[in-house]
Amino acid sequence: MLSTEELMNYVVGNLVEPVFRPPSEWDALLIAITTGCTRKCTFCPMYRTKTFSIRKDVGDIKKDIKRAYDLYGNQVSKIFFEDGNAFVVKSDLLSELTKYSYKIHPNLKKVSAYAHVKDIISKSDDDLKELAENGFTMVYVGVESGDDEVLKACKKGTTQDEIALAAQKCHQAGISWSSIFLLGLAGNDPEKSRKHAIESAKLINRMAPSTPINWYVSPLTLRVTGGTELWAQKSSGEFKPCSSTQILEELYTMIEYTSEDLQKCIFNSNHASNYVGLKGELGKDKKKFLELIQASIENPSLRRPDYLRGL
Ligand code: SF4
Repeated sequence: MLSTEELMNYVVGNLVEPVFRPPSEWDALLIAITTGCTRKCTFCPMYRTKTFSIRKDVGDIKKDIKRAYDLYGNQVSKIFFEDGNAFVVKSDLLSELTKYSYKIHPNLKKVSAYAHVKDIISKSDDDLKELAENGFTMVYVGVESGDDEVLKACKKGTTQDEIALAAQKCHQAGISWSSIFLLGLAGNDPEKSRKHAIESAKLINRMAPSTPINWYVSPLTLRVTGGTELWAQKSSGEFKPCSSTQILEELYTMIEYTSEDLQKCIFNSNHASNYVGLKGELGKDKKKFLELIQASIENPSLRRPDYLRGL
């Protein structure tokens, strides 16, 4: 058996540093099918040092998948396709690589990737369904906001309508939808911050599936990082970050405006960047979440301190 530490390093030499993955994929085998990201959102430091490319040699990718079996035997239960938005590649190739992964790894249960909304909606419903049938399990989508103005300002390249459509296409195809929002992205203007929260709540309501299947919403808190466009905007005074109280007020409003009827919406704000950790079902736990946030607004000592927020 591999140790936990070894499990966390299911890598087969196919990756270009720096490498990122969602926290819940900490134990996944990482297989690069792209390098970098097609976009350059103003706040994102993740792939700035990489030039985007798609790995052309499918045989080489398959060799990596096979090599992992030679190294780890039947211990691989999750595969995460790297890099930034690996979902950009054509769906027949994604399907082929997903199918091959299950053929090689007998205990594989989950195949997932980061996806940009545009790369979901450009795929047909049939293609998405085929991907799901071949075992592609989940997309992680940085939606950031439901507010079209915020989405435009951060150069996300999507709108609320497109994000809602992408979510519905994934639900219908049978691909799990995991969405990440970014608190603080509208800056400290109270009106803009409130609109970012209310429009994000509206988007959450629109992302809800029509059948009771699990779907995921995770808010993160903005950290303005050196080297990004947002850092330059902050340095020039064009962008002013929110205070911790404003961030909590945004989170409160975002939850407050979500529908009472949401089902199976798994909500998790346990990410280290956040001031308050909430975990539960958004519909059922709404009242409890609001009480916890309100307590943190009134009492700063209840907030996660900066040294624990990885800042
Ligand atoms: S799409 Fe995601 S990974 Fe790519 S630049 Fe934007 S936030 Fe970063």
